[in-house]
Amino acid sequence: MSRTRILLVEDSDLQARTAIKFLEKEGHEVQWAKDGKAAINLIKSYPIDIVLLDLVLPDMTGNQICRWLKLNEDTKGIPIIMLTVKSEVNDKVAGLEAGADDYLPKPYNEIELNARIYACLRTKSLQDDLRQKNVQLEELLKKVAVFASTDYLTGLYNRRQFEILLKKEYLRAARYKEPLTCFLLDIDHFKRVNDTFGHNAGDVVLKEISKTITASLREIDIIARWGGEEFIIALPNTDKEGALSPALRILKAVSEHRVSLLPSEERITASIGIAAIPEPTITTYEQLIHMADEALYRAKKNGRNRFEIHQTAMVDETRQ
Ligand code: GH3
Ligand code: MG
Ligand code: MG
Ligand code: MG
Repeated sequence: MSRTRILLVEDSDLQARTAIKFLEKEGHEVQWAKDGKAAINLIKSYPIDIVLLDLVLPDMTGNQICRWLKLNEDTKGIPIIMLTVKSEVNDKVAGLEAGADDYLPKPYNEIELNARIYACLRTKSLQDDLRQKNVQLEELLKKVAVFASTDYLTGLYNRRQFEILLKKEYLRAARYKEPLTCFLLDIDHFKRVNDTFGHNAGDVVLKEISKTITASLREIDIIARWGGEEFIIALPNTDKEGALSPALRILKAVSEHRVSLLPSEERITASIGIAAIPEPTITTYEQLIHMADEALYRAKKNGRNRFEIHQTAMVDETRQ
């Protein structure tokens, strides 16, 4: 184990020399400062493990130095043991309130001092371990949060996270009477891609198409992988008319994209179902998705590589 680096702050030559002799005999390395200013200068330039601090010094009190050390980011973790002739309860309390970790009235027993030095260092080491474990735990929690909200293949949000975000967007849009559009997009004949070129090629298609779609969107739009080869998109502040141009842009970008692993003549197409609010028949975000799904079904039925928009059912009042 490396030697403990002790800063002894003591204005009495005699007391300092006695302490240094004992501490060095115990195997510690001692730096000695005769006043507060020297102590602060020393601690700024030299790595210190623990401070033994006299309370009465010529230029400032031990409590002042203690407060300074505990407020300073670089030194606040260094344990401080106050050494003083003052042993009144009030003085002890003041020292501990100033941030001292321990308190030893002079004349102290050297063996007790040594035991307290080790006790302080043990506590510090446990605190350091705890702090490091907390940092590791926070990093782990961040990773878990990312895993829980994203799709491993495309890096997009997953279904669960999308529902959380869409719900928020939906409630806000409904409250402020703003439009909100939902696209449900499904890659056409994707099974054929897998069957012809293999599952790995299929995965590459999913990755590249997800990027192609994302690049066709605005930054405020929210895209997620809904399932296998289905993607879902929320377009805030967008009504049905406003949805036409992004829908066309996506279809064009997807159909023009050359997938890196496929033969150059191969092209991918997709179909999109669109639903939007305000819309009298839609009162929840789940219904918005459901209506987009119905429109997607029609887009498939009507020939693929196209979009269909959910329309309000017309009530024919002439028929009874
Ligand atoms: P349609 O135009 O009617 O949508 O036809 P389709 O072939 O795209 O639809 P279908 O639902 O029959 O096939 C979807 C395929 O997507 C089947 C499934 O194996 C594949 N798939 C789902 N998830 C993944 C994945 O993560 N990677 C790969 N490579 N394929 C996937
Ligand atoms: Mg003194
Ligand atoms: Mg599908
Ligand atoms: Mg499909």
